[in-house]
Amino acid sequence: MKTVYTFGGSADHTDPRQKDKTVTGGKGANLAEMAQIGLPVPPGFTITTEECVSYLAGGSDFSEMLRTDVASAVKHIEATVGKSFGNNDDPLLVSVRSGARVSMPGMMDTVLNLGLNDKTVKGLAQTSGDERFAWDSYRRFIQMYGDVVLGVDHGLFEEALEIAKEDKGFYNDTEMESEDWQTLVAEYKAIVQDELGHPFPQDVQEQLWGAIAAVFDSWDADRAKVYRRLNDIPSGWGTAVNVQAMVFGNMGDTSATGVAFTRDPATGEKAYYGEWLVNAQGEDVVAGIRTPQYLTLAARDRAGAKQPSMEEAMPAAYGELAGVFEILEQHYRDMQDIEFTVQDGKLWMLQTRSGKRTAKAALKMAVDMAGEGLITEKEAILRVDPMALDQLLHPTLDPKANRDVLTSGLPASPGAASGTIVLDADSAEQAANAGEKVILVRVETSPEDIHGMHAAQGILTARGGMTSHAAVVARGMGRPCVSGASAVSIDLKTRTLRIGNRELKEGDTLTLDGSNGQVMAGTVATIEPEMAGDFGVLMEWADKYRRMRVRTNAETPNDCKMARQFGAEGIGLCRTEHMFFDASRISAVREMILADSEQGRRDALAKLLPEQRADFRQIFEVMAGLPCTIRLLDPPLHEFLPHADADFDDLAVTTGLDVDHLKRRAGELHEFNPMLGHRGCRLGITYPEIYEMQARAIFEAACEVALTSGAAPVPEVMVPLVATRRELQILRELIDRIAQEVFAEQETEIEYLVGTMIELPRAALMAGEIAHEALFFSFGTNDLTQTTLGVSRDDSARFLGPYVDQGIFERDPFVSLDIEGVGQLVELAAERGRKTRDDIKLGICGEHGGDPASIAFCEKVGLDYVSASPYRVPIARLAAAQASL
Ligand code: PEP
Ligand code: MG
Repeated sequence: MKTVYTFGGSADHTDPRQKDKTVTGGKGANLAEMAQIGLPVPPGFTITTEECVSYLAGGSDFSEMLRTDVASAVKHIEATVGKSFGNNDDPLLVSVRSGARVSMPGMMDTVLNLGLNDKTVKGLAQTSGDERFAWDSYRRFIQMYGDVVLGVDHGLFEEALEIAKEDKGFYNDTEMESEDWQTLVAEYKAIVQDELGHPFPQDVQEQLWGAIAAVFDSWDADRAKVYRRLNDIPSGWGTAVNVQAMVFGNMGDTSATGVAFTRDPATGEKAYYGEWLVNAQGEDVVAGIRTPQYLTLAARDRAGAKQPSMEEAMPAAYGELAGVFEILEQHYRDMQDIEFTVQDGKLWMLQTRSGKRTAKAALKMAVDMAGEGLITEKEAILRVDPMALDQLLHPTLDPKANRDVLTSGLPASPGAASGTIVLDADSAEQAANAGEKVILVRVETSPEDIHGMHAAQGILTARGGMTSHAAVVARGMGRPCVSGASAVSIDLKTRTLRIGNRELKEGDTLTLDGSNGQVMAGTVATIEPEMAGDFGVLMEWADKYRRMRVRTNAETPNDCKMARQFGAEGIGLCRTEHMFFDASRISAVREMILADSEQGRRDALAKLLPEQRADFRQIFEVMAGLPCTIRLLDPPLHEFLPHADADFDDLAVTTGLDVDHLKRRAGELHEFNPMLGHRGCRLGITYPEIYEMQARAIFEAACEVALTSGAAPVPEVMVPLVATRRELQILRELIDRIAQEVFAEQETEIEYLVGTMIELPRAALMAGEIAHEALFFSFGTNDLTQTTLGVSRDDSARFLGPYVDQGIFERDPFVSLDIEGVGQLVELAAERGRKTRDDIKLGICGEHGGDPASIAFCEKVGLDYVSASPYRVPIARLAAAQASL
């Protein structure tokens, strides 16, 4: 297999591996493609990503084969441009750039002018007839190579340059003369010698291999690792290296360099967008040393800029460039992000790639391009990253605003929120009632905090993962949330919190970015979501092509309404325990839990029945005949037990029981491992009166709605945490019995289904048996992940980060389904369930139901629907469509 591919000149571009980004990286593949379609590309070569992977795995050694192949690829460049590498009279100079499959900030980017040394610089001066240009190029090279390859602090070079300019009384680099650059080169070399204890390398081969090694090594730089983790890029991909003949944008006023997009990457508007600089090299445009100029006359006019646009200053080169834009858009059928250089009036293309864009631009471009006939509707659907829709559904931080980042946690629920810090739920509610915007900061949240979470603009917790209470509830409510920010420590006595070395107090302002987990001091400006027309169009197309249905996880009428606006086609999970989080109800729930007799429980349940029935009635009304999966109570008991003395006091007042008795009872109920304790159907088996009350509330509400509205609900009663057929059999009989009782009382009947969650490995394995009792399965992949991996969903934040960094998991398995492992259980249970009951309804209601990669897997397994929190519904609709294309 080839280790190196050449491009440009007489190179052969027919090997499909050369256009495969996984082999040659995005930059390398596109350079070859541009060369092949006849665009002006300086000749060069690409070292494959495979070589990077084996270099990193093999202790930073280059293979002999690579050395030989690079040597002959250098000859290809030499032959094409008619110069030779390291030749003192007419030297070839090259650029060396990294190029992974996807562009990755954090990795080594570019070294320009490689091949210059004390001798070749003179040759360059001779052949170019421009001594100043040659020495300018050499000082740029030492600075760049010194910084990115040799690791010398670039500030030292910049300081030397500033001093040199000051000494001369110059303001701009362009005022520097040849001799000035020459002096600076000597200073730069001295800096390298001082810093490293050895001279700047004069051997061009040493320069080249040093740069190649630096590119490879940069794949494993800390910054690159962080970026990979945030963007779910596997560590095993590696980067390619591109070595290319230099063309010079700094050869005087007929030369220039620039970057451009074929459409506006911020708005999606069909207009060229870009920046350029006369007499400059690539890094000048991005480095902010000089202010770049506008590419087009229209953009310049709009901005009221003085400097001429490229369209005006270099009409011929601009015309050629605009022609290239059209060719590239037609060829790639997508918006392109381009780098170019003009050397002495001649245009050269240095890079093209599909341009990064905002969610809004992605939508607009997809819909526009389908309208233009450039792409099909199906392609338009595939063009928009479903997760990017998140940006459109929540207010987001203004990208132009400054951020004083204090720390980062998990991006648990997207959106941006600013407000004053409050440290408990009651204060949050009081402040919100008084019209204040607050951020609730807790070590972790529990059901007692629910009113405060609701009142808050956003939630920050020091502990807890992506499926912790805070995360699940916040997503459901559409509240931005950052969870598991372990640098946050709270002192409730002094009502202060410390984040790293910063001290804050209640009343100070915080901003959360729930989309990337950042926690910031002060208020950061936000921009409101815009449901542009393009959004609706794309969603309509998605609905046309998807097979799976999309439901929502919701338990309040408001959430249900919102989910329906987002296009939900039913409820996939109504977590009834969440309906009891309300402060006004929690005492009845606690009374029920703490009762030590059946009668005690029945008394408490009698108080809850009318409220449950009213809840269900409202939900059935909002859902208007759409299927509603109602899950019977599944509280990990610790989430409901009172903790604080004040809670016990309150409870003593409401129940008339004595505080010590209540405390003793709470002590008896304490569990060491509540997630594996007395929860789910185990509660229904041991205290059947609880599920009887809930079943009654469901059927009474359904009958009422059926009698009073045209749309009869079809409740799907779901039993949680089932491990055995017998559990479900017992509870199914209970549900059926209550249904018959209610139907007889109400003198009406409605259709209903009884089914179960598959959220324990045993349930998945025994799905064939369990299906005898179940008309539907809903995969509870939160618990299924927790129990299959043996990883606590509430504690995993502490160690999953390093696990993902080290490639043990590609992604947090509570966010994106562990398809290889947990996925097997889902697949097997679906198969076994269908074998017993071929029309068994199959869905997923764990958090993975809103994750595009997991949704693609659900399509493959043939599930009937996915269920996601309301704000994730559009994401799921689009992801389901993409999965079925
Ligand atoms: C699950 O376990 O995946 C599930 C949906 O239930 P819960 O998150 O309420 O445990
Ligand atoms: Mg569960």
